[in-house]
This record gives sequence, structure tokens and C-alpha cells, in this order.
Amino acid sequence: MKKFVFVLVILAVMLAACQTTPKELTAGVAIYKFDDTFMTGVRNNIAAEAEGKIKVEIVDSQNAQPTQNDQVDLFVTKGVNVLAINPVDRTAASVIIDKAMAAKIPVVFFNREPLPEDMAKWDKIYYVGAKAEESGTMQGQIAVNYWNSHPEADKNGDGVMQYIMLKGEPGHQDAELRTEFSIKAITDAGIKVEKLAEDTGMWDRVKGQEKMSAFIAAHGDNIEIVFGNNDDMALGAIEALKAAGYFGTGKFMPVVGVYATAPALEALKEGTLLGTVLNDAKNQGRATLLVSYALAKGETPTKESIGYDIVDGKYIWVPYKMILLDNIQDAQ
Ligand code: BGC
Ligand code: CA
Repeated sequence: MKKFVFVLVILAVMLAACQTTPKELTAGVAIYKFDDTFMTGVRNNIAAEAEGKIKVEIVDSQNAQPTQNDQVDLFVTKGVNVLAINPVDRTAASVIIDKAMAAKIPVVFFNREPLPEDMAKWDKIYYVGAKAEESGTMQGQIAVNYWNSHPEADKNGDGVMQYIMLKGEPGHQDAELRTEFSIKAITDAGIKVEKLAEDTGMWDRVKGQEKMSAFIAAHGDNIEIVFGNNDDMALGAIEALKAAGYFGTGKFMPVVGVYATAPALEALKEGTLLGTVLNDAKNQGRATLLVSYALAKGETPTKESIGYDIVDGKYIWVPYKMILLDNIQDAQ
């Protein structure tokens, strides 16, 4: 009898515990690859913002879409409350959307924008990112300001800006649109351009350096300016230029990047990087987490609840900012 009462008491205590502790919410987060400077910034900010709100389980998709699809399956099996996905292949987002819809788990994509037709599939799909065109335009404006205030920038005096473009991963909206809009801003300002070379450095510093070394070998002093779709590639280009005798007491080459990483800000101070555009990892990570958290709680995110504007009911755009030596503090 005593034993029976004891068991009853234990059961009652367990039941009470279940009722008073709400189930902890979990977000399943997949990053296209951990080994990416910008995504590391976003990832750290997601984790920081999650503290005290929601448990986040963050996985590395190792730059393979099949791996990421398996990771999503696992998250679904575990019953996460929301998915936050940085797709490997943004055009393959529909596979993830179908899985999420079947399991009724809302999805927040970030940094790699799914196609509009995929975004339209369900009202529980969101996207957090930045307007790629804007960053390209700002890079172009940095070039225009430099060109107009430095007549010696036109080395061969032909009135044409001879440039090199180090592109990010082909197909990534940021790579395509930064490449296009940086040059558009220059031609819109009435300056003629000539592309000496363009190739992808896959967002990577070492690849950027290798490509730039080859471009210097092929075009040497004909190069008047270098654009990198991100700072890593711009910094790689600066390494190659240094090796070819540029900077310090040598010749100068304007190089423009995107992101405002710590090493890029060092390069700005050192005078090797002409300018960059702040790609705000802090706010992109924060917004991703806050939208995810609202969805995990079963709420519809609003500007009031997350502190960011929501465009067309599903897009959160974090603004870019032009960063030069004289406003470097805006990036820190
Ligand atoms: C960043 C790149 C980064 C890429 C990852 C872009 O927005 O500018 O630096 O490698 O996102 O998807
Ligand atoms: Ca020229």
C-alpha cells in the first residue's frame, strides 16, 4: 500500500512538472557551409540572439544540397518548431519547401534567395537578406567618386575605366547583381568602361588571389580598378597586387569589396582597400532568428514583434552601407 501511494505521488509530481514547464522550442538551422566568412558572422549572430528565447540546432551543409536535404529530413523527424535555411542551391529551395509544408513547419530562408515562384508556395515561408542591387550600386559609386576626383586613375588617359571583376559563386543573386549593378552605376554616371577580365573566385580569398595573379600577368598596367563581389576576394586580389609590387612605396590600385570584415577594415586603414559596402551580418542573423522565433511560437511575425519591416508579407531586407576610411566607424 505504502509503495502504491509512493508511486502515485511520484506520478502526480511528474504530471505537475509537465504542465508547468512549457515544451522548449527548437529551430533547425542549416548553413550552406560553415567555412564561409560572411555566413560565420550570420551564424554567430543567430546563436547570440537565440539565447534565452529558443534552442537552435545549427548544422553545416558542407556545400552539398543533398546533405542539406537530409539534414532537413532529420529536423522534421525531430519535430523542430521552425526551419531556418541558408540553401546551398537557391534554385532547389522547392524541395525543402515541400518537405516543410508536408510537416507543417514554417521556413525562414536567408542570404540565398529562393525564386519568387517558390516563395509564393506557402504563407509560412520568409526570406531575410539584403538587396544585392544596392550593394553593387554602392560599389560603383565608390569607383565613380574615386575616378572623378583622381584624374591619374585613368592610367592610359583614354577616358575609359579598364576594370577587373572577381565574381562570387555564379547563380548567387549577390554575385550576379553586384557584378551587374556596380558597372551600371559607373556607366549611369557617364563613365565608359572596358572589362579586361571577369571570373569567379567563389567568394574565396585564396581563389581571388589566384585569379588576380593571372589577371596581373595577362593585363599588367592596363588594369585601372578591381572589383570583388566580397571582401575575401578583394583581399585576395590585394595580396596578389602586393606580390606584384603594388602599394606601400609602389604603384596604387583601387580595389573595392563588400562586407566590411575585420581584415577588410584593416586594409582600409592601411590604404590598400579603397572602399567596401557593409553587408550587415548582425542584423541579418538577428532578423532571421526573430522571424524564426515568432513562427516557432505559432505567431505571424509583424514589424512590431520583430522590429524589422516585412515586405509583401514575407521579405525582410537589411540595408547595406557604403564604407570608406572616413566613415569606418559605421562598420564597427
Ligand atoms: C556574401 C558573401 C558570402 C555569400 C554566402 C554573400 O552575401 O557577400 O561573402 O560568401 O553571401 O552565400
Ligand atoms: Ca583608361
